[in-house]
Amino acid sequence: MNIIFLGPPGAGKGTQAQRICDALNIPQISTGDMLRRAMKEGTETGLKAKSYIDAGQLVPDEVIIDLVKERLAQDDCKNGYILDGFPRTVPQAEALSAFADIDSVIELAVEDQVLVDRLSGRRVCVNCGATYHISTLNGKTVCEKCGESLIQRNDDNAETVLSRLQVYHAQTAPLIGYYTEKGLLHAVKGDQGIDNTFAAIMDILGAKA
Ligand code: ADP
Ligand code: ADP
Ligand code: ZN
Repeated sequence: MNIIFLGPPGAGKGTQAQRICDALNIPQISTGDMLRRAMKEGTETGLKAKSYIDAGQLVPDEVIIDLVKERLAQDDCKNGYILDGFPRTVPQAEALSAFADIDSVIELAVEDQVLVDRLSGRRVCVNCGATYHISTLNGKTVCEKCGESLIQRNDDNAETVLSRLQVYHAQTAPLIGYYTEKGLLHAVKGDQGIDNTFAAIMDILGAKA
């Protein structure tokens, strides 16, 4: 099954994609993770992306489209995948339709006020990308899965968060209409607990955990 997770920053796309991918045994294709890895490695793509990411803006379509096209051509994507964070613009969605058949688009809906709180408290593992929130970490500073340190992302500061939310509403939210017209969109309330959200998505996908 080829699935897209759509939603504003902080909606829970990464958290849910990890769990659903584990349950369905398919890869999570997170463009944010791919770009952060490219920046860490200092590749050409990473260098191009950095100023946009730091400013809370989208990386240009042509940079990200090629990256995703290459990734989806790899062997592990044969039996399906979850796109987490792509497409984020209508041109990206149009480009995707030329090299992928999408079965389902899950839209995670959460209000802006809740998102600001989630993003400012988000902590991520430097090694495996697992995502946590300070409200449930009880002071822990290492990853439950791999033992490496947890950090706050550079772009999870108050100012950048606001521009990311604006960018979402202006450039990404139009995809809700785009995929509704194609009959692919399923909206899920993303402000319920992590377990309830997971169950709601599994229900839509017709899979049992
Ligand atoms: P996204 O990938 O959409 O930006 P994340 O999955 O990284 O979102 O989640 C953002 C923050 O919100 C993280 O700190 C995560 O632990 C927390 N979070 C995710 N889902 C929920 C939920 N259903 N309820 C409360 N907090 C959540
Ligand atoms: P979040 O999980 O908080 O929504 P991501 O990790 O998906 O954030 O993305 C972080 C940043 O990487 C974005 O703010 C944007 O600059 C860049 N990025 C990720 N995916 C895309 C994309 N599909 N198109 C353009 N830029 C992207
Ligand atoms: Zn980890």
